[in-house]
Amino acid sequence: MSIESIGSTVCAIATPAAVGGISVVRISGERAFAVAESVFKPVSGKPVAEMRGYTAAYGRIFDGGKLLDDGVLLVFRAPHSYTGEDVCEISCHGGIYVTRRVMTACLRAGAEPAAAGEFTKRALLNGKMSLTQAEAVADMISAQGEQVLACSNSQREGALYRRAEKIASMIMEVSAQISAWIDYPDDDTPVVTREWLTEKISAVAAELDDLIAKYDSGRLIRNGVSCAIVGKPNVGKSTIMNLLSGSRRSIVSDVEGTTRDIVEETVTLAGAVLLLSDCAGIRETEDEVEKIGVEIMLEKLKNADIVLAVFDGSRQLSHEDRRLFGLLENKKVLAVVNKSDLENRLDITELEERLGKVVTISAKDGDCAELLGNEINARLELSAFSADAGYIANERQRACVLRAADAVNEALTGTELGITPDAVGVSLEQALDAVYELSGRKASDEVIAEVFKRFCVGK
Ligand code: GDP
Repeated sequence: MSIESIGSTVCAIATPAAVGGISVVRISGERAFAVAESVFKPVSGKPVAEMRGYTAAYGRIFDGGKLLDDGVLLVFRAPHSYTGEDVCEISCHGGIYVTRRVMTACLRAGAEPAAAGEFTKRALLNGKMSLTQAEAVADMISAQGEQVLACSNSQREGALYRRAEKIASMIMEVSAQISAWIDYPDDDTPVVTREWLTEKISAVAAELDDLIAKYDSGRLIRNGVSCAIVGKPNVGKSTIMNLLSGSRRSIVSDVEGTTRDIVEETVTLAGAVLLLSDCAGIRETEDEVEKIGVEIMLEKLKNADIVLAVFDGSRQLSHEDRRLFGLLENKKVLAVVNKSDLENRLDITELEERLGKVVTISAKDGDCAELLGNEINARLELSAFSADAGYIANERQRACVLRAADAVNEALTGTELGITPDAVGVSLEQALDAVYELSGRKASDEVIAEVFKRFCVGK
């Protein structure tokens, strides 16, 4: 990991480019105090350079001789700051213009503009956090739901880093034993047997497989669950959509085919973020507009993480309902029988055979939203997902784990085929490299640059 980029003193507006109560301009680097000194004058008269870490001062903010604003200066002394460097944060009034002026004053005083994610990148390069923790910072900022927040917090606490370190130490234990046995065959080193190798390497493979298996759950929690609501006209899709989104956005009516466009809504339910699409009813139609709606619905259905297939419990299954079965093959489906407040005329046996467990609700009953949220979570196994155990949160991390898993499986197959332990050791080295890249211990400058592309300026 290079530390080339450290050295300059950078500054950025850390708050959004919008009018608000206060804005914060953050300065980090060796000259942070010097820059703050020339921009900020505490009313106490105490020089900024003499302020102790974790203290604040009220004062006036200047650009050259010109008074810009009054505000508060917070100071952090290296290494006890977010970046690990000297950091000064100037809080001024939250106007866009005045904030930009404060920022310009800092630039004029010798700071350079910070790149996207530069503060977090410095924290990484200064050993304040691991690469996976830095990635979690970006996740946390974009978190929209309770589960995403909990997950990114676990990652920020270093859950994945610890897991990667554990896997690395499991690999190293085997590698060390192989090396000792090869280097000192005559000593008391225990013989590296095929059984021992198989057992140890299988344990590593199981850890990696578990990470890969939970990737989808992690992705759904992070990116949200795309959930298509489908069913023939009038079964209550729009009513369910409105129930889940707590609004009356979808048009609810007794006239078939009223949902012509896809109505979309993002909601947080049972902790997960759901990207809901209320799709046009499935029916043959001559109406051109409705035809387009049906086509879009089919596309939505194809891409959905889960499909809420809605049926009217007050009617028997029709051929239109059955047409849906074909479209739902190989999809994760939650079959919802609606209108439970009306007399039941639907035998759910066929539904259960085709679609699995059925949930019966009345969309007119507001309490059903939580029930549906929990059922969706259960179907996608989101509740069983424990962020505290560490999980892979993005494609970069996944690629590293897959590479490690490939190398470990090669070591395992080799062991079973009876290749020499030193050849097994070579595969284990490759696995270790991939695990170190995952945790960031051995990440190249390119990898780090890629990670920080996702960040905003000021973080
Ligand atoms: P969509 O075409 O599938 O979107 O169906 P809508 O949501 O527009 O609902 C069609 C009709 O069924 C409307 O008159 C709703 O008020 C009614 N409806 C929806 N859900 C229920 C329910 O749980 N019970 C009863 N009794 N009527 C419902």
